[in-house]
Amino acid sequence: MFKINDNYLKLPGSYLFSTIGKKVAAYQQANPDKEIIRLGIGDVTQPLAPAVIDALHKSVDEMGHAETFHGYAPDLGYEFLRSAIADHDYKKRGCDISADEIFVSDGAKSDSGNIGDIFSVDNKIAVCDPVYPVYVDTNAMAGRTGDYIPEKQAWSNVVYMPCTAETNFAPELPKETPDIIYLCFPNNPTGSTITKDELQKWVDYANKVGAVIIYDAAYEAYISEPDVPHTIYECDGARTCAIELRSFSKNAGFTGVRLGFTVIPKDLKCGDVTLHSLWARRHGTKFNGAPYIVQRAGEAVYSEAGQKQTGEQIAYYMNNAKTILEGLKSAGYTVSGGVNAPYIWLKTPDKMTSWEFFDYLLEKANVVGTPGSGFGPSGEGYFRLTAFGSYENTVKALERIKAL
Ligand code: PLP
Repeated sequence: MFKINDNYLKLPGSYLFSTIGKKVAAYQQANPDKEIIRLGIGDVTQPLAPAVIDALHKSVDEMGHAETFHGYAPDLGYEFLRSAIADHDYKKRGCDISADEIFVSDGAKSDSGNIGDIFSVDNKIAVCDPVYPVYVDTNAMAGRTGDYIPEKQAWSNVVYMPCTAETNFAPELPKETPDIIYLCFPNNPTGSTITKDELQKWVDYANKVGAVIIYDAAYEAYISEPDVPHTIYECDGARTCAIELRSFSKNAGFTGVRLGFTVIPKDLKCGDVTLHSLWARRHGTKFNGAPYIVQRAGEAVYSEAGQKQTGEQIAYYMNNAKTILEGLKSAGYTVSGGVNAPYIWLKTPDKMTSWEFFDYLLEKANVVGTPGSGFGPSGEGYFRLTAFGSYENTVKALERIKAL
């Protein structure tokens, strides 16, 4: 008789966004005349940049001719894209990362979930709290997180690193030593960042205790302040302790196209074994490669026109972020984020729980946001709004919130 992976049964309730979806659908059905504005889900709304569309058209045409047809992509990704990434994202920033340390993938969600395959189930993970839920959920699926404790909204075998107003929404070095540390900056959902000096402390700590850092920099393109690092490899010693996850979703609108990459420096070892070799083995065996046309589209993001056009999209979203930040502040809310990230993190008023505020905002303003508690226990009492809507809707949503 077959057996299932019963770690899946330990996962609590349904995924955050499906709960939100159901609530919004029920409200809309009961109130068909209401116009709902969604400032909740972290998906982009701007169309792909013209430079990207041109590259897609061109590469689709190539696929139609025997001389330029492409079949299976190379296991680690096409050289043209990996070189563009190495030059633009690392060498230009003075970081020692080469093209053959870059693994092209279909996105950071897959990579952040799959990277656990190369680690023993015995490792203890540490996560920022609150944070993108995929890290904990995928470790729970792998059997690494112990049991879920509903009263605490937390797992028994996870080191939670609270990121609260007291710590400026940044984690402090944990008291209990973890083996795998997930860091995400700029952070989803708080929009917080840490400086290069602060990140250096994490790199030094990981090297000292023999931990590996999985650094998710999916929102790197939104950084506007000079002392915020764009990559963990700006820190000395990161090559021996850090894996970096990146995505084309939020910097270039590829959420529906799918492209990302993971960096594993060859100096990152467990004894004599490089993590690079393990991930290469996994990538070659379990991943079919991002399509040629998508990798050409990714290459176009690094062209002069691509950089200009995607930069304008980011500026558009960050103008929304400014509108939300200023609007909420003027309405008396306590807010943070929104300067180096498309996320605005607000404290719920009148001691409402995150879900109470969700219902309040949906019913009174017809605005959808995301309850902070869905991102970890320390997110309770907080709420996330995103800058990915249209400018017109963002302004309208803020007018409604201010009128409450
Ligand atoms: N990492 C973080 C922190 C995210 O917030 C998201 C998406 O919201 C992802 C990764 C997913 O990226 P991708 O679309 O490349 O899978």
